[in-house]
Amino acid sequence: MEQIIARQRTFFNTQATKDLKFRITQLEKLERILKNNIPALDDAIFKDFKKSAFENYLTELALLFHDIKDAKNNLRRWSRKRKVSTNITNFPASSYIIPEPLGVCLVMGAWNYPYQLSFAPVIAAIAAGNTVVLKPSELPSNTSAIIAKLVNENFDPKVFKVVEGGIPETTELLEQKFDKIFFTGSTKVGTIVYKAAAKYLTPVTLELGGKSPAFILKDANLKMAAKRLIWAKYLNAGQTCIAPDYVLVDNNVASKFLEYCKAEILKADYSFDNGNFLQIINDSNFDRLTRMLDISKIYHGGKTDKADRYIEPTILNNVSFNDACMQEEIFGPILPIIAYDNLDDVFPKVRALSKPLSCYIFTSSSKTKKRLMNEFSFGGGAINDAVMHISNSNLPFGGVGDSGIGNYHGEAGFKAFSHYKSILDKPTWLELPLKYSPYSKGKLSLLKRLMNF
Ligand code: NAD
Repeated sequence: MEQIIARQRTFFNTQATKDLKFRITQLEKLERILKNNIPALDDAIFKDFKKSAFENYLTELALLFHDIKDAKNNLRRWSRKRKVSTNITNFPASSYIIPEPLGVCLVMGAWNYPYQLSFAPVIAAIAAGNTVVLKPSELPSNTSAIIAKLVNENFDPKVFKVVEGGIPETTELLEQKFDKIFFTGSTKVGTIVYKAAAKYLTPVTLELGGKSPAFILKDANLKMAAKRLIWAKYLNAGQTCIAPDYVLVDNNVASKFLEYCKAEILKADYSFDNGNFLQIINDSNFDRLTRMLDISKIYHGGKTDKADRYIEPTILNNVSFNDACMQEEIFGPILPIIAYDNLDDVFPKVRALSKPLSCYIFTSSSKTKKRLMNEFSFGGGAINDAVMHISNSNLPFGGVGDSGIGNYHGEAGFKAFSHYKSILDKPTWLELPLKYSPYSKGKLSLLKRLMNF
């Protein structure tokens, strides 16, 4: 690993990655490799957790193709020197900010969207002119293997290299000095990464998780809320970092909302056979999830099959904040419903939990939208929708507090992998004597007048 990083650093120091054409060539190569290997990418992800070609395109590959196109179209603008005004004290001079790449970057991916969460940060890193070591999650072993094969057979390892492995390999990687670490995963491992980064003062982006609530107000369009929310929850079998984790619904509309949710589940025809539903990634997650299935609270679903790692899309009703499913991020196809009488009572309870990655509010009242936006801290979210904010690359994507540090997508991704160098550029034809000693009362009063404080 030391050797991979040393070679990348030597290459970075040749300045080759500063050339925009070089960066675009790398991005185009990645695009070509992905496009030419879609059947193999589909096959690997299906083997890992029965993800269909449709979902693979919708939630992984299409986002990557968009990111590459976006970076290619905007690279010149993102990377140009930006002039800013100069203060009077520095007259005459010009001032500008130059984005520069950070150097050798480590990207660590999570398993739940193995292509998207591995390559999206890599695209941003390459666009910003860095070299990259990628460590995909080891849990989906087939996708990890194909990512490594495609990258390592096609890219110069001095520019982009994939290192596969689990905890021992990651621990070894984290002992090395990088110029940036971009981590996607759990808050628990995020803490380990942050500690390791501190040793070299390496800047980090931590894309973590949390319990993202969805509020259903009594004035919401309930049918549409159920439709959008059910899709967002059961996409990827609930194994989505920004999935609505639990629902807080006004008691006046709770039973109607539940009926609509059940109807949407039935309509969606969730099954492995038709490619509409996914497996749970592994046995330990399957066991963790089934422990949350309180039989007395099942409103819909609840069937499980350990051999197939199948958990039916399930709704738990009459849930309280003390239940097992409310003690950790669910990350599976279980949707707890908590009915409330008064938003003022439930709000402090939600705020007492860690700041979530997302929040969704279904209401037609602009006053309520404003109130929730003002009073509740979360990474990002949507009003009258769920999950879809991730598809707008003009919206920086990331968490706050326990759900993460920093953000990416679109220009925010370029910024995450750049340093903005601030320059004051002075000519030598004039030098005002004011700042130089010997000081005097006259100089002080002139200084005060100039500063104008
Ligand atoms: P994880 O933290 O277990 O694993 C993420 C990465 O860390 C993997 O590459 C893994 O190999 C490595 N890792 C695991 N244990 C480690 C250790 N002890 N030391 C060093 N490295 C270690 O997370 P996961 O299970 O892959 O993903 C699930 C979590 O990720 C959820 O909390 C989810 O919300 C979050 N997530 C966040 C985003 C986001 O964009 N914010 C996206 C997807 C998932």
